[in-house]
Amino acid sequence: MENFHKISAEAKAHNAQLIAVSKMQSIEKIKSVYDMGQRDFGENKVQEILLKKPQLPDDIHWHLIGKLQSNKVKKIIDQVAMIQSVDSEKLMNNIQKEAAKREIKIDVLLQIRIAEEESKSGMTKETMLEIIQKYLDETYPNIQIKGLMGITTLTDDQNQISKEFEYLKKLHEECQNAITQATILSMGMSSDYMLALEKGSSMIRVGSSIFGMRN
Ligand SMILES: *Cc1c(COP(=O)(O)O)cnc(C)c1O
Repeated sequence: MENFHKISAEAKAHNAQLIAVSKMQSIEKIKSVYDMGQRDFGENKVQEILLKKPQLPDDIHWHLIGKLQSNKVKKIIDQVAMIQSVDSEKLMNNIQKEAAKREIKIDVLLQIRIAEEESKSGMTKETMLEIIQKYLDETYPNIQIKGLMGITTLTDDQNQISKEFEYLKKLHEECQNAITQATILSMGMSSDYMLALEKGSSMIRVGSSIFGMRN
């Protein structure tokens, strides 16, 4: 975990927030990073958040960054600070329904598919625009859209990754033109966070570079 301070400082220098991605990492390791001052942690599975949360301090902000099935929304909606992986209108509708039941307002990011791989999830630009329109029409009174999230193609081609970050940055500008409070641009992981920061990321999600290899 010797890299934590360096990565945290790099994020700060770019006015970006650091999410420490703790999926498949032990409670002990998470606690050490917490003790170094980190409060925002990312997990990609609902079950894993529910398991870890009670074993760790209450002032941690948990970010769900992995695929969320509609039927699991009710389990997680009041357990996380933010859902970064909203990838469809169906999921927006479900989150709205469950948040309304609990009379809470939940922060989300719209996940855009920027990678070439079909397997990477996320919505298209068209879907994003539809959701933004509905949001402006007050279809989702219990949801606050805070910005966009994206995952780049798994490749060594820096040029390709650059283009994907630039595309997401452009969509984020469109999104923020419509929704002023949608200030967050969540992009950049262990392998590409420096490039992401240069391309205007305001939130990096770093796992293995902080915690070491996952089990
Ligand atoms: C695992 C994961 C990360 C962090 O990946 P590292 O390569 O370990 O930094 C970031 N974002 C998402 C959505 C992830 O699933």
